[in-house]
Amino acid sequence: MAKIINVIKGTKDILPQDVSSWHRLEETALDVFSKYGYKEIRTPIFEATELFARGVGDTTDIVNKEMYTFEKSDRSLTLRPENTAGVVRSFIENGMARLSAPVKLWYHGPMFRYERPQAGRQRQFHQVGVEMFGVKQPAADAEVILLAVNYLKALGLNDLTVEINSLGCPSCREEYKRKIKEVLKPEFENLCEDCQNRYEKNPLRLLDCKVESCKEIFEKPEIKKVIQADFICDECAEHFSELKFYLNKMGVKYSENKLLVRGLDYYNRTVFEIKSNNLGSQNAVCGGGRYDSLVRNLGGDDVPAVGWAMGMERLNSLLPPVEAEKLDAYIVSNSPADAFMLAEDLRCNGKAVEFDLSNKKFTKQLEKAAKVAKFALILCEDEIKSGTVSVKNLDTSEQKTVNKNEVLTLI
Ligand code: ATP
Ligand code: MG
Repeated sequence: MAKIINVIKGTKDILPQDVSSWHRLEETALDVFSKYGYKEIRTPIFEATELFARGVGDTTDIVNKEMYTFEKSDRSLTLRPENTAGVVRSFIENGMARLSAPVKLWYHGPMFRYERPQAGRQRQFHQVGVEMFGVKQPAADAEVILLAVNYLKALGLNDLTVEINSLGCPSCREEYKRKIKEVLKPEFENLCEDCQNRYEKNPLRLLDCKVESCKEIFEKPEIKKVIQADFICDECAEHFSELKFYLNKMGVKYSENKLLVRGLDYYNRTVFEIKSNNLGSQNAVCGGGRYDSLVRNLGGDDVPAVGWAMGMERLNSLLPPVEAEKLDAYIVSNSPADAFMLAEDLRCNGKAVEFDLSNKKFTKQLEKAAKVAKFALILCEDEIKSGTVSVKNLDTSEQKTVNKNEVLTLI
């Protein structure tokens, strides 16, 4: 026998029995997001590597360690590790800045990151996300957070915590970064290797470190005082307090987390995460924030933006599985040609119908019907002769013989 080829580590098949759970995420997204005026966008799965280096930021783990990059005809291409950069590229390239603001877009699809696979962490995983362009006011931040919460509610997820923080703007953040570096300098040797690397390039990211020994350092009173200090300027503080005003008004429960910095470089002012109280260590289901300089950094106009992404595998792991839909009817017959005609007729009328294509015995066909369909339609010599069909409800076992053209009224 030929050697079996297996699925690649960190990737998974979504099998037919599981696909209904994915449809639920996608259909609920379409349903909820449309109410807020979002339109779906589908961008390519690979893009120029430079887009992510510039868009996500070349001091991030995503760009430094996690990208699937390959060369083709002297071009460096990368499988998208996230989709904000791709959506922003398309926004600029298609002149969407000329449309009347806000431009509201949503997407779903596979993302690729070379990470250590574990529960809740894959190398090909899926995200659903939204991006809103053109509004600098905090009402936009509040609306996208509310949208995330309402999407999760529509899916039946209520036991979640919304965490928010403000990263300030580039100018007030500079001072904060300087203070963090200063207070952590004596501890430099005790920081993990990643934090030592980030210390110069991206000191805010230290606060996000998951290593226990680093977390302990940040808990030291003199260090905690600096980290937790209110560093943001008056304008950023006003933006943040207005956001909280709207969230309170809309009844969104949240907590403030000063250590929330997010792994991507492009955020300013608002950042947020939604965590589940039911997932283990990979408990973040949604991450997002405001990114007012990304459109300009990628060559577009000065267009403020805010958005988020959710991990779809993590959403599914929090939800009960969706039972696969049964067929409306399965035809049990010893005349394939008659079964064929009846099946086509019902399919044309919108019903999901199958019949036996391989001349199986009557009892076998009936067993199959009981497994896969809501009704068995029995079409044997007697029925064919009299132009009738015996319709059996497979839940109640109730059976009725009716004229062929009345079948539709019963199933
Ligand atoms: P984490 O802290 O879990 O690594 P992240 O900050 O890298 O998350 P984002 O880039 O903000 O995550 O992506 C948003 C969401 O996508 C996450 O909250 C998570 O639900 C999901 N996600 C991210 N990476 C993976 C992965 N490798 N496998 C499965 N889901 C993922
Ligand atoms: Mg990550």
